[in-house]
Amino acid sequence: MAEATSKTDFYVGVDLGGTKILSGVFTPALKCLGKTKLTTKSERGSDAVLDRVARCVTDAIDECDLSIKNCKGIGIGAPGAVDFEAGRVIFAPNLGWKDLPVKKELEKRLDVPVFLENDCNIAALGVHERELGGKPRHMIGIFVGTGIGGGIILDGKLFSGAGHTAGELGHMVLEMDGPKCGCGNKGCFEALASRTAIFNRLQAAVKDGEKTILTDMLGEKLEGLRSGDLRKAIRRGDKLADKVVEDAAQYIGIAVSNIANFFNPDVIVLGGGVMAALEEEMFSIITEVAHDYMMPGVDKGLDIITTKLGDDAGITGGAVLVRQQLK
Ligand SMILES: [Zn+2]
Repeated sequence: MAEATSKTDFYVGVDLGGTKILSGVFTPALKCLGKTKLTTKSERGSDAVLDRVARCVTDAIDECDLSIKNCKGIGIGAPGAVDFEAGRVIFAPNLGWKDLPVKKELEKRLDVPVFLENDCNIAALGVHERELGGKPRHMIGIFVGTGIGGGIILDGKLFSGAGHTAGELGHMVLEMDGPKCGCGNKGCFEALASRTAIFNRLQAAVKDGEKTILTDMLGEKLEGLRSGDLRKAIRRGDKLADKVVEDAAQYIGIAVSNIANFFNPDVIVLGGGVMAALEEEMFSIITEVAHDYMMPGVDKGLDIITTKLGDDAGITGGAVLVRQQLK
């Protein structure tokens, strides 16, 4: 494919998370030229975090031997409700932000156009455009990590709802009186199948005296448990880890069937850290349960897939967003 010849055609994507900021520089054909990662340090307040986002962007650009003048714009995904038109974060609990003019503040710091979206929306956009060539008409992305989020693409476009909060798939309730969720409700999808949910269940089981090699690996409190530790434990024959991960996969399967029944999409994409680490353990259970619960006809032509973009889905989507907006 012909690449950019002009030195002013690059896009920057940023994935702003509760613990880390990732930024990447992309060509117009969405090839990533370089990436930079910084910790978020949200406890220092929003001004400091926005300074760090700007630094993460300029560092990534510098790594690629470019300058900000070579970049057409920056697309950034933030964790929470985002008003795209106004460029404001409405509410981002992980960052402690409420009604913050992120677009304006970053444009002041970087002097290029900035476009702001919800992090999972932008990740769905990245998968849709980069991995699937923009082909699926209706696509839903489900991202399973510390929490669970979603992005909805209908008729080829991001669907953000009446008040910019669509796609909160992690908070559909799957179990009345289930475990408490960070949002305050009980039995949310996120409280049943995220890494946090898996961690909580394992910790409770260990407290009840159940045995797992995870305590040999991480200590009684299972501190610092990562998805990769779960994979290691399961592959070493750990029955408790296997059971808890299988349960989570079943809930993801039920959620996938609900989503398929609601939207009748062409593609449902599963992503996020849990899926990336435990695809082999979870994927077949998810699809089997999902198909069991789907209404007749819903699965006709439906592809359930996992994204191969991993952590790069968000930054790729950021670049896609800029490309779309500046067309
Ligand atoms: Zn919830």
